[in-house]
Amino acid sequence: MLCGGTDSAASDTIEWREQRLHYVICGSCGLKYMSPRPTQGWYLRFYEHEFWQEKATFQGYSSKGAREAAAIDEGTAKRVAKQRRRALRIADLLAPVVSLDSASLVIDVGTAFGETPALLRERHGCRVLGVEPSAHGRAYCAEVNGVELVGRYMEDLAERQPFDGEVDLVVMSHVLENIVDPRAALASARRLLRPEGSLYLDTCNFYFNNAVNPYHPYVFSPETLTDLLARCGFGLLAQYSETHPRQASWPTDPYLAVIARPAVAATLTRPVDVERLVADQQLGLSLLAESKRRRRDYERSGEAAAGSASAGAAGRSTSQSSRGRTTPFRPPSQSPRADSDPPGS
Ligand SMILES: [Zn+2]
Repeated sequence: MLCGGTDSAASDTIEWREQRLHYVICGSCGLKYMSPRPTQGWYLRFYEHEFWQEKATFQGYSSKGAREAAAIDEGTAKRVAKQRRRALRIADLLAPVVSLDSASLVIDVGTAFGETPALLRERHGCRVLGVEPSAHGRAYCAEVNGVELVGRYMEDLAERQPFDGEVDLVVMSHVLENIVDPRAALASARRLLRPEGSLYLDTCNFYFNNAVNPYHPYVFSPETLTDLLARCGFGLLAQYSETHPRQASWPTDPYLAVIARPAVAATLTRPVDVERLVADQQLGLSLLAESKRRRRDYERSGEAAAGSASAGAAGRSTSQSSRGRTTPFRPPSQSPRADSDPPGS
């Protein structure tokens, strides 16, 4: 596989469109991957014609006919809003580490609707390019965000480009896990970048997000992602992810994000115990689920307690104040649930 190792242990099997897709975990490096994998050609057709359209369908259109009749725009608006939130997070993570200005060139691979390049251009005045396969996403990039597209797939940039060695930032957000040959994609990214350029990359975190689905031939952990980057000639500049499940207290982030710089390629090896990895993943998944449950309970209890002068809710007082203000004027017939439902339960 990517590390050159040949032994693997069976992991998940998923069913999709009457097909069975199997995942294994590499016994040498711990990478989780689909085996066998769909071909790149299959993915190319899928992303071009179905991916965003299918996601839009999931936003409430029960059938293809209903989706077409209702127009796809409502689903698209929700997807764009989500992409905008992702773009804001990416821009915030980049800000302290990567300096961009009007002379900078940015390429966003798998840009979807072009929200990230549009935001970076808005903030820094940089020149932005996008790569996007979906006909739906490409149209939005061009018509709404004015993002120039230079290819549909990272594979389109495998050949020499006029801007090789001139790119200041390559963004690959939720992309690498979807590519059949991530080494080739990272080789292209490295060729595009200036020596002092940066790669921003985020993906699902194996330990907290068992992201097995037909779009994901790979599920990376912080370790397997760092290994792959090192092999492809990238060194980590910054890493944003939950700590290992055995060190995490209450994890909230199912993703991992890194910023890397071109470096001398290196092979990292570390002993892997697949059973322990699987146990760590189970621990991570249950910690994240419990953490989410606690947060939901806390927020509910915060809403119930809003307006009461609870010292324990001091950190939330600002966001709760507008709702809290109305509480004292509640008619007496409505029982103040906060009294019987203490926060932190
Ligand atoms: Zn491996």
